[in-house]
Amino acid sequence: MRRHRARYFRVLNDGFPAKYGRAIARVADAAVGAYRSVLKLDIPSFYCNERIRICLRLDPSIRHPRLFFQPALLPSINYCVGDVRSLRSPVVGGPHHVYGICHELGHLALFMVSESSSEVDSGVSEAVADFLASSILRRLGRTLGTNAWPDAYEYWKVDGIPDFAAIISGHRRISIPRSKDAFEAARWLFLRVAARYGVGAVARAIRGTRKEGRCVFLGSFKAFRIGDFWNALGRETSTRWLTRHLRVGRLIHG
Ligand SMILES: [Zn+2]
Repeated sequence: MRRHRARYFRVLNDGFPAKYGRAIARVADAAVGAYRSVLKLDIPSFYCNERIRICLRLDPSIRHPRLFFQPALLPSINYCVGDVRSLRSPVVGGPHHVYGICHELGHLALFMVSESSSEVDSGVSEAVADFLASSILRRLGRTLGTNAWPDAYEYWKVDGIPDFAAIISGHRRISIPRSKDAFEAARWLFLRVAARYGVGAVARAIRGTRKEGRCVFLGSFKAFRIGDFWNALGRETSTRWLTRHLRVGRLIHG
């Protein structure tokens, strides 16, 4: 097991070529800075006084690359691949690595729980992480450039929500997705919020939830309820506007 130096996380590497492990450590550190400067959001990086781990594993028995946040007894971000080919740039068919790391850190920003653990709630949680990660990619690009990943690519153009900047600046309209998928609906909602109230509104709602929401402690790690997040977002936008959009997206009923 190899370790890579990182300021905010503990990066443990079981099989990734070292250059990819170093890149992941660098991207995660820079993403914490980008979350702070673009969204004024602190990404929690400690659990029970220990740095949160980023675990990398290359094992030929792994069929599909997987990057995921595990909110278990020992929360960790895990990147598992079956071969080195899975680490190539998304431009030539690899996964969206840089975005993926930012997305997992987005989960750490507001690790949400619900009483029901319904599909809607997990869709919302994914959409929050998707939206947050897409918000910081440009800043990250200015900090790290194309060389953030060993197989250089312009992740701020290739990764994240397509047309993100055009949508939130109002140059491109986005219509309500036809599917009943909660992730699609929540993503549409956050883009509408950003276009109307600014990209910082969602982040302010996260800060508001952290401050006033009822939290559930997992060790020293705080998780929050989605209902409290909607209330905070209602205060950042307008409760009427938000309720209407939550109903249209079938994210709440009634
Ligand atoms: Zn996710």
